[in-house]
Amino acid sequence: MIDFASLNEEEILKLLPEGTPKYTASNIFSFIHNGATFQDMTSLKKDLRSYLEENYIANPIKIKETYVSKDGSKKFLYELPDGNLIEGVFMPHNYGDTLCVSTQVGCPMGCAFCASGLNGLIRNLTPGEILGQVIAINKLEGGNTKERKITNVVLMGSGEPMVNYDNVIKFFELVSSPKGLNISLRNISLSTCGLADKIIELADSPYHPTLSISLHAPIDELRKTIMPVAKSVDLKTLINATKYYFNKTGRRIIFEYSMIDGVNDTNEIAKKLALLVSGFPTHINLIKLNDVKEKGFKGSRMERIKEFISVLEKNGASVTLRRSFGNDIDGACGQLRANYIKGQE
Ligand code: SAH
Repeated sequence: MIDFASLNEEEILKLLPEGTPKYTASNIFSFIHNGATFQDMTSLKKDLRSYLEENYIANPIKIKETYVSKDGSKKFLYELPDGNLIEGVFMPHNYGDTLCVSTQVGCPMGCAFCASGLNGLIRNLTPGEILGQVIAINKLEGGNTKERKITNVVLMGSGEPMVNYDNVIKFFELVSSPKGLNISLRNISLSTCGLADKIIELADSPYHPTLSISLHAPIDELRKTIMPVAKSVDLKTLINATKYYFNKTGRRIIFEYSMIDGVNDTNEIAKKLALLVSGFPTHINLIKLNDVKEKGFKGSRMERIKEFISVLEKNGASVTLRRSFGNDIDGACGQLRANYIKGQE
């Protein structure tokens, strides 16, 4: 069944009965982005509401579980119309509230330390299933399209957004629509494990989110051992693609680096990392790996992380240690869904 959260106004109009005026499509678009069900759209004729309800889905996202962390973050488990489950995290910040959204059910990339891809890719999300997460939580937090409670979105939930590229682009069109949530691409981050050809395609598109690269290792041989994507995209190709993105967009490139005990956290590696991201505007976001029991990887110790940071800084890199949200509620990628599914078995 088609979900209306995937559609722009023209596409909605095409699905309405012949002769329906354009402004009705425009109203429905706005209702959808405010989180209304078809039955909530009481300014529409009753027949039309019933017709829509029988044939289409308004918002395909249903909040199934909510977990509230001591640190103020919240984790959600959502159910999709076909029964699949995905997850998301709401993170309060002083500059605005951020929602982390998923782009796929599961993930095909198979990074060794990540729980999202434990069972591979199940399917891509539709544009409306990505947008629906933002609509649902904005509404839950008491917001609407005029007064938004979600001001920032990060595509850092489960899935590899560059593998679901067309639906992610459509999501950008919808979420930045002035008649919808109107969230600027400046307030959206796309995180990728580094599909270089798609980074170039995105640079050439009209949509320019902040680009985050999940780097995790500054040496090809090491990166290949933890990220299978490194076997097809080497670091030189990846860095060149990010330089292209910077040159096209003027946007500083963010490198995500999860510190894994005994794997990627030596001073020598810190020096290589600083050198790799030098020469153009970049920033390194360090995060202590959230232990994933299934994979046997552990986060680095705090003293090691501090020294790693000081080596990076001495070598000219800009770096921050990211707070890890929601540790007490399985905040790390894919962990909530994985544990939830396990609990049901
Ligand atoms: N597929 C995209 C989007 C996922 S973003 C990407 O790879 O960027 C999620 C981020 O969390 C990525 O940087 C990912 O590498 C990282 N991550 C995955 N598992 C983690 C864990 N156990 N601890 C810390 N970071 C993790």
